[in-house]
Amino acid sequence: MSDTQIIDTVLARNRHDGTRLVQILREIQEQLSWLSPATLTHIADRIGWPRAEVSGTADFYSFFHTRQRGKYCVLWSDNITDRMLGNADLMDAMCKKLWLEPGRVSEDGLVSVNTTSCTGLCDQGPAVLVNYRAIPRMTQARLGEMVGLIREQKPVSEWPAEWFAVEDNIRRKDILLGHELKNGQALNAALERGPQAMLAEVKAGRLRGRGGAGFSTGLKWEACRKAAGHGPNPAHYVVCNADEGEPGTFKDRVLLTSYADLVFEGMSIAGSVVGAKKGLLYLRGEYRYLLEPLESVLAARRSAGLLGTNILGKGFDFDIEIHLGAGAYVCGEESAMIESIEGKRGQPRLRPPFVAEVGLFGRPTLEHNMETLYWVREIVERGAEWFASQGRHGRKGLRSFSVSGRVSKPGVHLAPAGITLRELIDEFCEGMLPGHDLYGYLPGGASGGILPARLADVPLDFDTLQEHGCFIGSAAIIVLSQQDSASAAALNAMRFFAHESCGKCTPCRVGTQKAAELMAREAWDTGLLTELAQAMQDASICGLGQAAPNPLLSVLKFFPHELEDGVSPRPSGERAG
Ligand code: SF4
Repeated sequence: MSDTQIIDTVLARNRHDGTRLVQILREIQEQLSWLSPATLTHIADRIGWPRAEVSGTADFYSFFHTRQRGKYCVLWSDNITDRMLGNADLMDAMCKKLWLEPGRVSEDGLVSVNTTSCTGLCDQGPAVLVNYRAIPRMTQARLGEMVGLIREQKPVSEWPAEWFAVEDNIRRKDILLGHELKNGQALNAALERGPQAMLAEVKAGRLRGRGGAGFSTGLKWEACRKAAGHGPNPAHYVVCNADEGEPGTFKDRVLLTSYADLVFEGMSIAGSVVGAKKGLLYLRGEYRYLLEPLESVLAARRSAGLLGTNILGKGFDFDIEIHLGAGAYVCGEESAMIESIEGKRGQPRLRPPFVAEVGLFGRPTLEHNMETLYWVREIVERGAEWFASQGRHGRKGLRSFSVSGRVSKPGVHLAPAGITLRELIDEFCEGMLPGHDLYGYLPGGASGGILPARLADVPLDFDTLQEHGCFIGSAAIIVLSQQDSASAAALNAMRFFAHESCGKCTPCRVGTQKAAELMAREAWDTGLLTELAQAMQDASICGLGQAAPNPLLSVLKFFPHELEDGVSPRPSGERAG
């Protein structure tokens, strides 16, 4: 098949619909390896969009290649945890073996090696993506074999299958599986009880959004349900945010691998309450390998009459589509995600209006973090009272904690909201790694700040960490030991934000770059950094720019001793320069 025929086949499958542009670009790239100028022109002509807009979308996302990439495209995760585990050394070793510089394509076009912000495999790093397939637990020995296979030009699909085995790293399932879960049971109960009763149940369970802001789920449903809509057909959408890009977060990967049915059922129940007929699950581009398994779960639900028309004979119509992201952390922000689904650059919108009123395609849209929807079915089946009673230290409910770093058992832990770090490490993680003592921790990934070991007994939940300048976010807990440095972790985080800034507003676009430069110096200019941090917090449009200074400010507040004799690089972060 010629390139043009491939492009036309993909376009035909996507209804020549520009609003599916991100999916169209991905599907074409998967077959042609990159998006050439001629390819972009052809797509623009066929969908009737200006060429500049098609190029603008293609250039925005890290996973789209508008210049030729290697036949083997190797991406090493560059986040804090993977660096602790030795990713930088492995990438250097690979480049040496291949006589290649990072970021370059080999002269024969065979291979390119680069870093990527995070692969969502902090619990089983060091991790690498090869042609967007994940290989966890890399070792020097496997690296040697991998380079051999690349030189032989063996297709990635024929590499040893065990290399690609990503573990279902979830602990304390017993919290959930006290009784047998049956697909459709909760949805049936929700449809029988009706929207108002379901709203009351979710409110009583005190379920709060798990993406970071912690907004009341019940109030969000209510606002979306009440939204008048705009235009003659005020359709409502449910968008499930599975675009976790926060370094240290991997719960979506784990929950979608093991419990996709719960998530899809939660989406359906939410749809029945707000009056939606369509749901979209926005899946992180790094989890491309989950796409087919998830499509199979959706197909099974359709066959069982749990998706489609007249679901369970109750007159409810609802179906779900999966939209795959393409490597842009900012698309985890709800309005940026909606822009991306509409085929555009994933840049946050100015608000108001809020997406609950004017969201996807201008319609009222209920947007939720995946984990929030995951808990809905538990609440429906086991009751709001049961869910609310699960918290600890005066907090309500259950939540997942993605724990990585210097603990014996990293993974996703389903635990009571309000549990402390010390309890989490002792009861769920089998303690610290041998030879490591707790030095500090990042309670909310790269954006949630850094706390010292002396604050390991603070309840981990929404609203409990603000007085220390931190927040729980999506509960991505990265544990540091005396072998790590908070200032190196903060520099790694700032470089991450500089890379991921969408560029829409100056305080974030310029501020993150400038702060990263200043933090890479041996001596920090603390006055200038504080001023810069304040400007970013006050004037950035969205949470990315507002939260980017948190780790930096934590170092100034809790770890000033690290700055006294100049910043010394340690494994947990970037090297200076
Ligand atoms: Fe984009 Fe950063 Fe501004 Fe958010 S704060 S809109 S990510 S430039």
